[in-house]
Amino acid sequence: MATGNINVSVENIFPLIKKFLYSDHEIFLRELISNATDATLKLKHLAQIGEAKVALENPQIEVKINKEDKTLHIIDQGIGMTAEEVEKYINQIAFSGAEEFLEKYKDKSAKDAGIIGHFGLGFYSAFMVAKKVEIITKSYTDAPAAHWVCDGSPSFTLEAHDKADRGTEIILHIADDSTEFLEEYRVRELLQKYNKFMPVPIKFGTKTEKKKEGEGEDAKETEVTVDNIINNPNPAWTKQPTDLADEDYKSFYRELYPMQFEAPLFHIHLNVDYPFNLTGILYFPKLTQDLQIQKDRIQLYQNQVFVTDNVEGIVPEFLTMLRGVIDSPDIPLNVSRSYLQADGNVKKISGYITKKVSDKLQSLFKENRTDFEAKWNDIKLVIEYGMLSDDKFYEKAKSFALFPTVDGKFYTFDELKESVKNLQTDKDDKLVLLYATDKDAQHSYIDAAKEKNFEVLLLDSPLTAHYIQKLESAHEKVTFARVDADHLDNLIKKDETVISKLSDAQKETLKPIITEAVPQNYVVQLEAMDSQAPPFMITQPEFMRRMQDMSKMGGGMFGSSHMPEMYHLVVNTNHELVSKILETKTKAKKEKLIKQGIDLARLSQNLLKGEEMTAFIKRSFELIK
Ligand code: ADP
Repeated sequence: MATGNINVSVENIFPLIKKFLYSDHEIFLRELISNATDATLKLKHLAQIGEAKVALENPQIEVKINKEDKTLHIIDQGIGMTAEEVEKYINQIAFSGAEEFLEKYKDKSAKDAGIIGHFGLGFYSAFMVAKKVEIITKSYTDAPAAHWVCDGSPSFTLEAHDKADRGTEIILHIADDSTEFLEEYRVRELLQKYNKFMPVPIKFGTKTEKKKEGEGEDAKETEVTVDNIINNPNPAWTKQPTDLADEDYKSFYRELYPMQFEAPLFHIHLNVDYPFNLTGILYFPKLTQDLQIQKDRIQLYQNQVFVTDNVEGIVPEFLTMLRGVIDSPDIPLNVSRSYLQADGNVKKISGYITKKVSDKLQSLFKENRTDFEAKWNDIKLVIEYGMLSDDKFYEKAKSFALFPTVDGKFYTFDELKESVKNLQTDKDDKLVLLYATDKDAQHSYIDAAKEKNFEVLLLDSPLTAHYIQKLESAHEKVTFARVDADHLDNLIKKDETVISKLSDAQKETLKPIITEAVPQNYVVQLEAMDSQAPPFMITQPEFMRRMQDMSKMGGGMFGSSHMPEMYHLVVNTNHELVSKILETKTKAKKEKLIKQGIDLARLSQNLLKGEEMTAFIKRSFELIK
């Protein structure tokens, strides 16, 4: 038996390893299984090129718990190591790697541990959870098996072993504070999280399966015990798109997100090998209105090993609402997020993903516009967000971004401009695009606009205020106005003006009595409109309302500070009721009519609440008495 000292300056590695990796110590299993996988794939390769003369029948990796001995075993049928190799790879190289790592991160606070976890400490991460580690290994060559034992101090023992079959068994003597890793559910959970798609089958215990025997009447069902393989070694993203049907993509989605019952809208298969390596599948899920953080996120893998589901910095932010997998060996993981964003390769990856997504959207739009329109509501948030935050995406998306009308018709921006330019160009030659954000609440205004044959868009996403701002700055001659922003004649000024029924003197009498009846934050405007238009109407200046919308979203120049609300009361001096008010003799009756008119206008904007509502109802009953 040989004993020796690992050539290091640190006295005892576990306290150090534990301390620096504490928050992420579960990654030890991923590291050990990665090593076992590498060893298996290496042997496969050697066998293929004729270097190793071995029979390789479906090699697998086994993970086993021995509760009595308090040990966790990771067993592979891979390349194995000779005693010399253990000396070289484990005592020298692996340890110096671990030591270098600790040196580097010694002064880092625990909050960086997440990053450290992705570093891949390799074999020595076993000491995060074990007080003693054994390696029993037999090389694929004829050399005898070796047995290495280390209790975390720099001393180890290395002796011969009688293991006859090729491969490596790692035995972890689990430390008293880590006994959770002797629990089956916990180990299963880890295997599910990190190893679900690793390329070598991983066995964890057994399970019973029903098996049919015989035919017809003689058929009987028996229960058989089979290996419980926890991973899918050939996940969809590693295959060629031509080998996959739509159903395969859907079933892979269910495999990735077992708790998602709603099928994705469509997928994008990513596959590049130059100038970087990347494969993956992205899915567009049905998105809801709110921008809340989602639980099911894009997962990042490195050669089929799960790394993280925080892809911030790698995938452009507007695409983090998508789901799916990205697998790339070219993403540096041992660096901070800010460094990641500056990395040239990562920038290229992010640009590539954006391009693939816009290409896919473009082709869906071209190939089946009806279907694209049907999906618009579920995908618009991603597209609008992308257009707001990424100029390259904006350039591509402007040809397929849609503008639905309140009647369910869909325009592209160019089609829209073309269609409304005759009726909706104002005297300054600006195109006025009308929109509603709520079909029900703005119903009467929408009706009025339609009466004039104006097109009213339905823009109801939480990004609308920002989105139209962006479009206006990109198109000098275009302005957006919500249907209730201003009364329509005023908005789209034509040369012909409606003659006023009232004289200037009559207007002068009218204005003060109405002003007296409205709340403080209302400005009264007398306008000569169509006699069929409502006598009283409440509008809110487009500018004011947009500022409010943005401050509600926490953006815009006013931050989250409170914006005062400001309304216009538009009085149609050509309406019969207005003439009637002027003619009314008694002051009390006149006031009653004005109040009633104003309240009805406010009611249609949902602005009547509490005491004012009570007063309105009381007055209404009196008036119909
Ligand atoms: P890395 O995997 O990053 O090279 P590790 O510390 O995990 O570093 O492992 C060091 C070396 O030990 C590996 O490169 C490999 O040569 C050897 N090794 C570790 N585990 C096994 C195994 N299960 N079978 C064969 N060799 C192994």
